[in-house]
Amino acid sequence: MGKEDNCERCGADSDERALVEYQFKGEKKNICVRCLPQLIHGKG
Ligand SMILES: [Zn+2]
Repeated sequence: MGKEDNCERCGADSDERALVEYQFKGEKKNICVRCLPQLIHGKG
């Protein structure tokens, strides 16, 4: 608990999967490598 770095989609943390930090509309977000392809392809 207390970790703020979780995938914004599935909630996985960096112990579980590699997380990638990115910015969208000036907001910093984290996404895991598993959800990243969905983000790239624009699937919800
Ligand atoms: Zn994820």
